[in-house]
Order: sequence, then structure tokens, then C-alpha cells
Amino acid sequence: MSNDSGSVYLTLAREYGIVCYGKRYLYGIAEEVTEMARRLGAPTYGRRYVGNTSKREVHDLDNEDTRPNGCQIDEIIRAGHARIFDPDTLAQAHAEGYDNGANCVGGSLR
Ligand SMILES: [Zn+2]
Repeated sequence: MSNDSGSVYLTLAREYGIVCYGKRYLYGIAEEVTEMARRLGAPTYGRRYVGNTSKREVHDLDNEDTRPNGCQIDEIIRAGHARIFDPDTLAQAHAEGYDNGANCVGGSLR
């Protein structure tokens, strides 16, 4: 290999270094985002309203009650009971028979 090729590899390594750093940086942002109320990943995809198919209740993640006996969104997701609405509105959740979550929406319809 000539010195010129070595320079090319070094340049590539530097470029990969930048790429890797960018990924870590993005992952860092993603980790911060997961601490917010809305969940960007599956199955909620950053939506505001999340239905619990087990209790047929809808939760407002912009007003999530994160106390142990609150909305329990992570538990709902883990149990496979989370679903989203299209459009992402409270009215759509009501139209599909979902009741208001007591802690985040309030005013039960039942
Ligand atoms: Zn709730």
C-alpha cells in the first residue's frame, strides 16, 4: 500500500469516527426522550393518546401520571395492551369506546 492509500484509510477512519459519534449522540437524545411522557418507539410512536385494550381506557401522555398507581403506561406497553388511535385524538378514542383514564384525562364517561 502506498502512502496515498494510507491517507485514504485514515480519512475513512476519521469519517467513521464522526459517524459513530453521531450515532452515540443520537442515542443519547433518544434515551433522554424516553424519559418524557410520550414514547417514540413501538407501539406508541410518539402519539399523545394511548389506549389500554385491557381496561378500554385512554391515557393522555402529555398529562401522564407517573406515580406508581398512576397511568402505568410502561406496564401497559409491557403487557402488550397499548394501542394508538388514528387520528391521535381523544374524540377518536371515545368513538372507539374508550373511557377516560382517571389520572390523566379525568371525567370518566362510565
Ligand atoms: Zn392516564
